Amino acid sequence: MSSLESRKNYLNACTRCSSCKWVPVVKSERFAHICPSVVHGRFHAYSASGMLINGYSLLSGTVAYGETLNDSIYSCSMCGGCDVSCKTNFADLVEPLDSLYALREKIASENQQPQALKAIAQHLRALGNPLGLPPERRGEWTAGTGLGRDGNGPASVLLHVGDDAFDSSRWPQLHHVVDLLRRHGLSVATGGVQEPDCGALAFDIGERQLAETLARKTAAWIQASGAKHLITCSDAAFSAFRNIYPRLGVTLEGVRIQHISEWLAEHPSPPVEGRKKEVVTYHDSCKLGRLSEPYQPWTGEWVTELNSLPVRTGAPKTRFGLGGVYDAPRQALAAAGAQVVEMERIREASFCCGAAGGADACQPGFAATAGRHRLEEAVATGANTLVTSCSQCSRHLDRLASEDGLALRVVTLVDYLRERTTTEQPIETGVPA
Ligand code: SF4
Ligand code: SF4
Repeated sequence: MSSLESRKNYLNACTRCSSCKWVPVVKSERFAHICPSVVHGRFHAYSASGMLINGYSLLSGTVAYGETLNDSIYSCSMCGGCDVSCKTNFADLVEPLDSLYALREKIASENQQPQALKAIAQHLRALGNPLGLPPERRGEWTAGTGLGRDGNGPASVLLHVGDDAFDSSRWPQLHHVVDLLRRHGLSVATGGVQEPDCGALAFDIGERQLAETLARKTAAWIQASGAKHLITCSDAAFSAFRNIYPRLGVTLEGVRIQHISEWLAEHPSPPVEGRKKEVVTYHDSCKLGRLSEPYQPWTGEWVTELNSLPVRTGAPKTRFGLGGVYDAPRQALAAAGAQVVEMERIREASFCCGAAGGADACQPGFAATAGRHRLEEAVATGANTLVTSCSQCSRHLDRLASEDGLALRVVTLVDYLRERTTTEQPIETGVPA
């Protein structure tokens, strides 16, 4: 039985109420959507509910694969906004995001996914990265850091880098992180060429088997390093470690997993003297936010109540996205002397930039619409700078802001702190490692 087949009760439970299109608490009509797919497609078919209907129709053979079906299903960044809004009304009765994962898994298993996603999966299998780049390039960022191109260790902290390793514009921020960790007395190990892809993108595009293989490789790499503390610079990997690996039966027991924003909030560097307080707005990436809420697999069973109502037994606590990382980046910004003015859609109700889930590769029109809508909201705050923890969000939003000539600078959290704080002063002792 396919994963989607086993979710028929959830597909049936959707009431078509359309709450998955909107933020749980609407503050203005202009920024009321939570689903970027609906902003782009403007038909019910593009909502989570519409995709559940399409999923059910695929199972019953009443729709056929084709461009129209794929356009609605893949104009979606797997951002989970729909899940938060649906659960606000129906708790865990429908769990639309889990069905979207299962839907993509079914489509990929039948080789009907868009060509661009097939290419990503092929690159991940052959080269260990989604970009189609030679694997040895993963280690190039270590040049000048004293870290080995092929990794090094053991050390007190294992630094996980993710796809920033392939983007030389991100290397200064990686070098800054290494420097900061060392200045706090930590020895740093990294994987260099040996760091495996974490499997997050493979899972998002429906390649569950591939995702599990990559997750197991990553877990083995972490265990072999001997590190008890892993810090990742990748929002996608952080989300995968906390939320996807438990779905794949992969555990990282005994290792403290931290996102770099959490470590930076715990270890603030003082602001550069004499600089004026800057007003910025902060974009919660879906991966560091609602999608990093720890996942617990369900081990109960379905029973029938009131003669016909299917009900789950022993269901775990409903995940509303509240367990994501929201405060740490804001604390780090405040410590660096920034004043954060919030957009309307923040924290678990954040609006996705549109780039994730393979959408930037297979549905660039959707990704651009979503990103521009998010930029409009950022501009409406009056801030001149948008900060985000996520490199992928930053790259995507920065490109769109440049194309549109917006007077809005887009910058990653680490780069912002690198510019605005000083490492010249002595470090306080007694801070937690
Ligand atoms: S997925 Fe949930 S929120 Fe969306 S229409 Fe169905 S029941 Fe309503
Ligand atoms: S995952 Fe995001 S883009 Fe996809 S249907 Fe849900 S809210 Fe819309």
